[in-house]
Amino acid sequence: MEESDAQDDGRDCLLRFVDVHKQYGEDVIALRGMNLDVYPGEFLTLLGPSGGGKSTALMMLAGFDTPTSGDILYKGQSLADIPAHRRNFGVVFQSRALFPHLSALGNVAYPLRMRGVSRSEAVKRAREALNRVHLAPLVSKRPARLAAGEQQRVALARAMVFDPDVILMDEPLAALDTDLAIRMEEEIRQIHEDLENTVVYATQDHTEAIALSDRIAIINAGAVQQTGTPEALYEEPQNAYTARFMGETNMLQGTVTSHDAPMCQVTLDTGEEVTATAINIHGAGARTRLSVRPERLVVNPGDDVAPNRFRAKVSEMNFRGDHTLVHLLLPSGTRLEAKVPNAQAEVGFGPDGDVEVGWHARHCRALDPPQ
Ligand code: ADP
Repeated sequence: MEESDAQDDGRDCLLRFVDVHKQYGEDVIALRGMNLDVYPGEFLTLLGPSGGGKSTALMMLAGFDTPTSGDILYKGQSLADIPAHRRNFGVVFQSRALFPHLSALGNVAYPLRMRGVSRSEAVKRAREALNRVHLAPLVSKRPARLAAGEQQRVALARAMVFDPDVILMDEPLAALDTDLAIRMEEEIRQIHEDLENTVVYATQDHTEAIALSDRIAIINAGAVQQTGTPEALYEEPQNAYTARFMGETNMLQGTVTSHDAPMCQVTLDTGEEVTATAINIHGAGARTRLSVRPERLVVNPGDDVAPNRFRAKVSEMNFRGDHTLVHLLLPSGTRLEAKVPNAQAEVGFGPDGDVEVGWHARHCRALDPPQ
């Protein structure tokens, strides 16, 4: 299932994970054969659950840890013998890890001083970096006197001040409240656009990943499940894991009855016959999971969505601001969720109403069966 990025010889990519394994002790396997390419100037996000291996991958990129086997290449050369301080990579962690005894300015000037930049030049550049993250008035404050979001901005300024080739960010917004995280998200995106450096970013939050990234790699159990643009992963997941991790979806289990590429027929375990796009199935008789996103379900559809249309009862309606989440119950017991935009609010049905629900076969993807 794991997708290898290795379609070329790697000359175009800046960083390349080649079959990287990482084992801790006897039985913790943090990475199991990770293959991933990162291209110059892109914003690539590792998106996956806690424990998936994202931090381990970033720690190895930074040079704070080493693979058990496999290799990481930078411009085609192995990083194995290059210590962290000789990699020109900036690092931002969730914990921020600022020096408590230095001011914001001192923290940001530090990596420049380490690189032999004169004191006056380091201060000048540190001020510019702090300006960029809107912290100019707070340069003399120590971390303990800064709010969480301000501390994270200092960490960001410190990571970019020495013009690194790559910035590594490990869940930098996870500890911030939602409003602040959204503002920081915008700033991170702007900084990346301005500086044009390569960013490898880790998060568990798919909306954050979608908002920030040029490409996303879905990470699970130490391996890459799928890589692609946010749109491709959301609209064209190749496996059920990716479909679920990228956003809400209706997942229906069934058995393939016929396969005539690119389409297939599936009988759901609850009896309905569904036409779907065959993505990741093994022919007639195979088990599959169908994924159809809630915004692709049409309540009381027109004639054009035949043949996937079924009678249903509205069991619940939840107002969600920009849309209403409509819970539907088919006579067989199948439950579905549809998102109906509130801009089209004259929906013409209410709780307990009898409706039809339908969806296009092109929006319904037949994916791998449950393990
Ligand atoms: P993520 O960043 O996606 O949450 P991690 O890379 O932190 O995942 O962890 C991957 C797995 O490796 C987890 O099972 C974690 O407990 C384990 N792990 C990470 N670092 C260590 C370590 N230093 N020693 C032992 N196990 C570790």
